Amino acid sequence: MIQNEFLVYKNNELGFQWQNQFRSLKNIMSNYQGPVFVYSQDLIKGRAQQLRAALPDVNFYYAMKANAYPEVLKILANEGFGADVVSGGEIEHALNCKIPMSKMVYSGVGKTKIELRNALKNNIYQINVESVPELKRIAQIANELTVKAPVAFRINPDISIQTHPYIATGLKDNKFGIDLSQIPEIIQIAKDNRMAISVVGISLHLGSQMLEFGSLQESLEKLSDVFLSLSKEFSECLRFDFGGGLGIIYEDQNLSSEDHKLKEYADAIHKGLMRLKSSIPNIVLQSEPGRWLVGHAGVLISQIQYIKKTPYKEFIILDTGMNHLVRPSLYEAYHHVLPLIKNENRNVKLYDIVGPICESSDFFAKSRQISEVRQDEFIVIMDCGAYGATMSNDYNRQPRAVELLI
Ligand SMILES: *Cc1c(COP(=O)(O)O)cnc(C)c1O
Repeated sequence: MIQNEFLVYKNNELGFQWQNQFRSLKNIMSNYQGPVFVYSQDLIKGRAQQLRAALPDVNFYYAMKANAYPEVLKILANEGFGADVVSGGEIEHALNCKIPMSKMVYSGVGKTKIELRNALKNNIYQINVESVPELKRIAQIANELTVKAPVAFRINPDISIQTHPYIATGLKDNKFGIDLSQIPEIIQIAKDNRMAISVVGISLHLGSQMLEFGSLQESLEKLSDVFLSLSKEFSECLRFDFGGGLGIIYEDQNLSSEDHKLKEYADAIHKGLMRLKSSIPNIVLQSEPGRWLVGHAGVLISQIQYIKKTPYKEFIILDTGMNHLVRPSLYEAYHHVLPLIKNENRNVKLYDIVGPICESSDFFAKSRQISEVRQDEFIVIMDCGAYGATMSNDYNRQPRAVELLI
């Protein structure tokens, strides 16, 4: 049985609830120095185990751009996850968190010479190649180092998914992946560089925050043909990496509905790869989940600086903003907002919830109905575990938010 809610009030205090274990957020605020991202160890661990159980024949590489807090990486490493990395900085950080190069998949369209040289020198597990010139660069560096580069071709299937356009990646006019028409060219380059290039598989990533999986299944079927033609040319081609992208529900707490989505997702993968699995029984399946593992497991807690009333609006002005959580400004993302302490005697009011940054796009919610709150009280922004702290910046010279794990 899957529980439905994971952030609940007990004795009017908000806290993480996971399998009979309640952890209040109130005490963390007793020594408040500024906004805090708080992550739940129980929830991250629970999600990791649930994902592995749903897809038992898949090897997972956690997309650490979602949340790279060291303790979070350690939990996932202990659960057997490798890392999906997208820069030399992430590789270094993953190594510091005890994830070895032999468990890293390296994605991204802009890998530099220095980054590739370091990755190849240190025997990275897999490089997902996103373009013809990248493949040529890898071949050249691998030749110089006299190593064989383990490359998977990230193919752009030209299939759309239902998500925000800024986080869709699998369309032909996106910068990601190799266009289907260029496959003969990359095969030729790889053949011409057999000493330097080992074609270990293909990869795919359709985009993020996917909650419908018809397009995923269609892409897997489409790329199965590509895989079969590659495996005829390259006997070492055995890995099928189907990326990340499984979404979470931000609008309300509904873990049982997400459980259902997870089943649909696993089903789409199973069906999409059925034909390929029967022709290549020793195929190695890989996935790069990010958001699904950590999204719900983090909150951003902030103190109300002012309640500002105008003839038109009532603003809650916080000490955190788009500098710490850019998703509402960047993707018009929805985040639920709750008071840290529940007060039964207060009425519901209509607020715009905004930050201190000098931009009109610096808001968390507009015309949001929540229970009345007052200056100096604490507000909890839900579902900030993914693409929260990792996307933050110091615009306006505001300090970063602290992160901690409970
Ligand atoms: C961002 C990304 C992921 C993870 O996406 P989620 O939606 O967080 O699961 C996986 N693979 C690649 C290549 C990515 O860029």
